[in-house]
Amino acid sequence: MFAAFIKKEYFEEYLTEYLSVVQSMNIPLMKLFSHLTYEQLREMTRQGVQNYLEGFEHGTALEQAAESLRKWETDELPGVPKNAIESSDLVLVYAAQKLTLNKFLTLYTDDVHTVATIVRELEEYYIQVQDQALQMLFRLQKATEEKLADKNRQLEEAQALAHIGSWEYDARTNTSIVSTELYHIFGLEPQEGPVDANLFREMMNMDPTNESQQAASFHYALGLPYFQEFTITRSNGEKRILQTRGESILDEKGKVIKAHGTTQDITEIREAEIQKQLSQQKDEFISIASHELKTPLTSLKAYVQLIDKTLSSDSASMAGKYVAKAMEFTGKLEALISDLLDVSKIEAGKLQFNMQEFEIDQLVQDCIEMTRHSAPDYQITLHGSSGATMKADRQRIEQVLLNYLSNAVKYSPKNKQIEVYIHLKDKQVEVAVQDFGIGIPAPKQNRIFERFFRVQNKNHNFQGLGIGLYISAEIVKRHKGKVWVKSEEGKGSTFSFSLPVK
Ligand code: ADP
Repeated sequence: MFAAFIKKEYFEEYLTEYLSVVQSMNIPLMKLFSHLTYEQLREMTRQGVQNYLEGFEHGTALEQAAESLRKWETDELPGVPKNAIESSDLVLVYAAQKLTLNKFLTLYTDDVHTVATIVRELEEYYIQVQDQALQMLFRLQKATEEKLADKNRQLEEAQALAHIGSWEYDARTNTSIVSTELYHIFGLEPQEGPVDANLFREMMNMDPTNESQQAASFHYALGLPYFQEFTITRSNGEKRILQTRGESILDEKGKVIKAHGTTQDITEIREAEIQKQLSQQKDEFISIASHELKTPLTSLKAYVQLIDKTLSSDSASMAGKYVAKAMEFTGKLEALISDLLDVSKIEAGKLQFNMQEFEIDQLVQDCIEMTRHSAPDYQITLHGSSGATMKADRQRIEQVLLNYLSNAVKYSPKNKQIEVYIHLKDKQVEVAVQDFGIGIPAPKQNRIFERFFRVQNKNHNFQGLGIGLYISAEIVKRHKGKVWVKSEEGKGSTFSFSLPVK
């Protein structure tokens, strides 16, 4: 009855009335259409109202309403993002429709019976549609809240990873709201109670003479972005270095009312920087020291050789024995210094190779022979052969294998058995040196090829600089090969390398 009544006689009047009601109500949703001219808006509304009336005519008004609510919920309405709709919008739109009808009915009909029927018809419709709409809004709201909770969770995770906390400070109430990570940075737990700004201030060992802190207070008072670094002392006495970035908000009188920002715990970053600096200083020292040591050592070696030659006729004498010892220690010193020189060459990118062709099996045998010579009470057994010819720096590859073998000897003070394996696999020669010595604890194994890395052993005091494996790894890598280790603490280690064959 309602549809028939309006459509037949008063459609345009109804449209005009409806639009003027909607516009006078200032419905926030209508902002979406603010770019349309009145004519365009009227045309759009005409379509909508026509559909709406047809729904009533055919008894499908409720289904139509449900369908448009569904489109809203699933974001299928072109040009209307679902988050643009608030529950108040819906209430207002329905109110506008009701208001228009009431006005309209009182203006255009004197027939009380018609008015009563139409009002009843519409009341029933609105009760049901509003119920559906509220349910939809409830679902949308819940989804948004879940998304927000998800976002908050992600934010918390990100803050924890980067050790960055965020905070808001209200100067009027002297209270702060801080993120979970900021509690953790201060060594606190959120459940320990609300944050008191004074508590934080107490922990910050502020230094009034520190310029960066003075500048920060100045910027804070002016409402400018500020940055400062300071240390805190946690309640357990632990000191942490923090960096804060913030911004304050002033009232019209220029008084700070609020501030907000982030605080990052940079203790580990600072420590890593110091480590890096120390390691650079160490490199510089090594480079200078090894060059300085080399010159007198070369002279010393030459003199010892001269004495040796002079005495060679009388090698059985005590002097001859002392000279032989002096030669041995000069050799050790020379090896140490040349390792140090290698490190500084690697660091400076100046390690050069003298490539030549050679049989790797022969090289392995030579190295075993040399090790047998210097460690006669060790039993070294070779397994397998590769038959491969390499193109590589023979002396450098020898240095790698000798390092593996001398470590196998050094770190196996009790079990004096050493197994060496060589075989060819996928155009790569693999060489492995197995010992049954002290082994390497699992957590240390992946750092064993790092420069200066040594495993501390409580039972033994092995001498060394922690650079042999670093040089070996560098040599093999530069030959496009690989190094690796398998080890078990207390059982022994197997150090391997592989190199591409020619
Ligand atoms: P260095 O032996 O001079 O300390 P390396 O670079 O050759 O230096 O070795 C680094 C560290 O690796 C050693 O300090 C030792 O802790 C460990 N390591 C090397 N080879 C072995 C091995 N065969 N068995 C047990 N530990 C080893």
